[in-house]
Amino acid sequence: MSTEFEIIRRYFARPARTALLGVGDDCALVRTRAGTTLAVSTDMMIAGTHFFADAEADTLGHKALAVNLSDLAAMGAHPRWALLALALPRANGKWIAAFARGFLRLARRFGAELIGGDTTRGPLAICVTVIGEVPRQLALRRDAARAGDDIWVSGATGEAALGLAHLEGRVGLEGKARQACLERLHAPEPRVALGLRLRGLAHSAIDVSDGLLADLGHIARASGVAAELRWEDIPRAPAIASCGNAALAKRCVLAGGDDYELVFTAPASLRSRIVAAGKKARVLVTAIGTVVAGKPAVRVRDARGKPVTTSRAGFDHFA
Ligand code: ADP
Ligand code: MG
Repeated sequence: MSTEFEIIRRYFARPARTALLGVGDDCALVRTRAGTTLAVSTDMMIAGTHFFADAEADTLGHKALAVNLSDLAAMGAHPRWALLALALPRANGKWIAAFARGFLRLARRFGAELIGGDTTRGPLAICVTVIGEVPRQLALRRDAARAGDDIWVSGATGEAALGLAHLEGRVGLEGKARQACLERLHAPEPRVALGLRLRGLAHSAIDVSDGLLADLGHIARASGVAAELRWEDIPRAPAIASCGNAALAKRCVLAGGDDYELVFTAPASLRSRIVAAGKKARVLVTAIGTVVAGKPAVRVRDARGKPVTTSRAGFDHFA
């Protein structure tokens, strides 16, 4: 086992189920369902930048796909297909098998079929492309928030960043808190079911990959509105509440990346339907602020009206 084609055949090629033609030809062939448009997204993960080079292969396979499915979730798109471009330093069968297991397990869970990719030798890098479907008028875009909308977040933000802080020795987590944060960091759960339920309800949505403030800032800029958050209403995961470092906890909640929760805006008249959508999708949704007219900005205030600030808004590869 070691040629490129043996690797592809052994670990990644599966008979096509939903595609007309899957792995094995120059292109895959897919057919979309009537009335839908394709939602397409790609994300790259580089050893040393996005993950430690000795990261566990199975969870890496999971995460590489999960961050992409999260983008589909944020558009309200239904996952259909995925492509996987892999650069590997060597043909380590055990590693590739574990990576494929993590990737394909998650793909199966969300009904996404692996239909192609590329396999080359090089410094460990993983690039996944996902293709989903969404009725064109129902796609949840960043540019459609309106003044008066509630701002919502799914789950809670900050755990992934707290997990990273733990691995880097900046905080010492134990027991359940440690487990929750590391699991969130390594194996995030894409909020696909919620994204689908928000179709026709939410005006705008984004997934939190770079930090709550930074990603909400993208909605504000694209929509030409300002976002005002109520500090006390932003949900805290148990690990955040108990980590014993208030400044770090605040930074993780507001600016920590890698959580893959959804942040979205919706008319205040739909509050009970949003809560119901969260229940059906089995994820907590919390109203944390309001969209207001004005220059694009994200402001956080506490119950007394005092601004809540943090040292940086979010993650930027070139900042
Ligand atoms: P080409 O030279 O035409 O680009 P390749 O030799 O790169 O084709 O790949 C052969 C087939 O295997 C193609 O269908 C391609 O999409 C698929 N493939 C290559 N690498 C992967 C991978 N890691 N996962 C899934 N499919 C892959
Ligand atoms: Mg190729």
